Amino acid sequence: MTKNFRTIFSILVILMLCITFFRIRLQENNLAGCPQAEGSFFLMNTIVQIRIYGDKAEELLDRCFELLQDIENRMSKTIEGSDIYRINNSQGEFVSVSNDTIQVIRKALEYAEITEGRFDPSVGVLVDLWGIGTEQARVPSSEEIKVARGRVNYRWIEIDEEGSKVRLLKEGMKLDLGAIVKGYAADEIRKLLKAEGIRSAYINLGGNVLVMGGKPDNTPWKIGIQDPRRDMPGAIASFEVKDKTIVTSGNYERYFEKDGILYHHIIDPATGYPADSGIISASIITDDSIDADALSTSLFLLGIDKGLQLIDKLDGVEAVVVKDDLGIIMTEGLQDKLILLNDDFYIVTRK
Ligand code: ADP
Ligand code: MG
Repeated sequence: MTKNFRTIFSILVILMLCITFFRIRLQENNLAGCPQAEGSFFLMNTIVQIRIYGDKAEELLDRCFELLQDIENRMSKTIEGSDIYRINNSQGEFVSVSNDTIQVIRKALEYAEITEGRFDPSVGVLVDLWGIGTEQARVPSSEEIKVARGRVNYRWIEIDEEGSKVRLLKEGMKLDLGAIVKGYAADEIRKLLKAEGIRSAYINLGGNVLVMGGKPDNTPWKIGIQDPRRDMPGAIASFEVKDKTIVTSGNYERYFEKDGILYHHIIDPATGYPADSGIISASIITDDSIDADALSTSLFLLGIDKGLQLIDKLDGVEAVVVKDDLGIIMTEGLQDKLILLNDDFYIVTRK
């Protein structure tokens, strides 16, 4: 009798828990006004977070991560058999690659032109030499830097006439699309979700943010600019947007320290050393993430004057730069939108 009672009681408890769980899930959906799915994965050497609102959100989330894996498999420098790996290891022979890879290389070459080679997708040998973000990070000798610099020049990247093959004209040269591929990937996710009728989504590839539409209730997304001081979490400023991408390049995430000097992962091909432009973080706000990604790295490399001169010339592109003295400079279009959240920082008025 007692045993039976216990069994019935246990079944009842389990049933009640199931019902409560089901209700919570439903309530989650109702709260947002539509179904939603959210997931985080480690891909492209960073944490990727995607939140989708709309029908089939769960299924689309899986497809987004498959797409990202696919892009990484083609454009990673380190995955054996990727397009970039094969180009880098072909001893100067033409290599057939996917259209997408050609598209990203072409875009990278455009930015190499307009930054006069400060942004350079052939920076691979220098990036490998420093090894920043890997166990092998070290300060190379000046001789090593000289040799590596001799292998960096975007003009030695050749795309064949049909636009399906690539070769590198200098021995030992290496492509590295690390400064642009996350932007491309965010745009591709948006393309997929748009085609499936999704109007609201938040995509974040390790600080490379793209928002589709507004939030599910159609209010704008609130985006924060991360504190660029090392190990200081939190946002220093915020602004509201719909349908935009916000990409930041900084010296505070991938770096190592040696004899009191910090060496970070954006290498200036002009010197062979990490860029030292007085900028600690450069954010770009625009429509396409591939442009935002290339431009945030470019701005970081070019420095405040030349960098902002370039941004000012481009239509529909806004920027926020944080200087090493914690001054914040922004382009005109943001001036009545950016809200300062941290008093350690100050707004610099542009002349
Ligand atoms: P993150 O990848 O951390 O978001 P960026 O978009 O600024 O930051 O890209 C940095 C990466 O770009 C480096 O890890 C390296 O792979 C590559 N890179 C470094 N220096 C340059 C450069 N001068 N031009 C183009 N790419 C670069
Ligand atoms: Mg970039």
